[in-house]
Amino acid sequence: MGDGCKHTCAAPQVQARPYATLYEAFVKIDLHVHSKERSVCGRASEEEQIRAAIDSGLDAIVFTDHHRLISSERLQQLNEKYAPFRIFGGVEITADGEDVLILGVQDPALESVSWSYPALHAFVRARGGFIALAHPFRWHPNVTAEFERFAPDAIEVRSIHTPPGAEGRIRDIAARLGIPVLCNSDAHNTTPLGMYFNALERPPADEQDLVALLRSGQFSCSSPG
Ligand SMILES: [Zn+2]
Ligand SMILES: [Zn+2]
Repeated sequence: MGDGCKHTCAAPQVQARPYATLYEAFVKIDLHVHSKERSVCGRASEEEQIRAAIDSGLDAIVFTDHHRLISSERLQQLNEKYAPFRIFGGVEITADGEDVLILGVQDPALESVSWSYPALHAFVRARGGFIALAHPFRWHPNVTAEFERFAPDAIEVRSIHTPPGAEGRIRDIAARLGIPVLCNSDAHNTTPLGMYFNALERPPADEQDLVALLRSGQFSCSSPG
């Protein structure tokens, strides 16, 4: 950690698809995608989201619906149907006024709506999962949860819901905590698919390997913003 270059989002003023082709050798993954099957605010079905991601040049997405995990059976079905495209299952939890993305933990106890951030952090840590702070400064002028004391594994620097004016503060937090930044869509419909992604150097073997790859910080992230 501490190598700012690895964690810097390039920001070319170009369309999503041509830019994605610059990353042809990488595995391009959006870690924050919603579906209408599990998010009441979702406007696109999970298969519409997958097809839009494929059409826009992504290699993988993670479904992170609000307080709802996708079942392992459905994940397996979708992965078989859309291979070699990859679909992973995470969740987005609101805790102490902030939204947090969790990867690598499939325990239904996660789906509670009454987590405190410190308790959620301990729960996920104990199970080897990955915690990312989603769109900081979207809801409040300050980060409300105890993120400095209970550091996440990553922080979302760009998404459709991350205020552009907050980027400097987000990068400062990431640098202070020594964690990478992420570029994810937070797509609730198909439009933003492909515009935000994290470029991994190799395909993850499975969800635990994805967590390990992300935790290593050996990736860059990109967005059009
Ligand atoms: Zn959110
Ligand atoms: Zn979200």
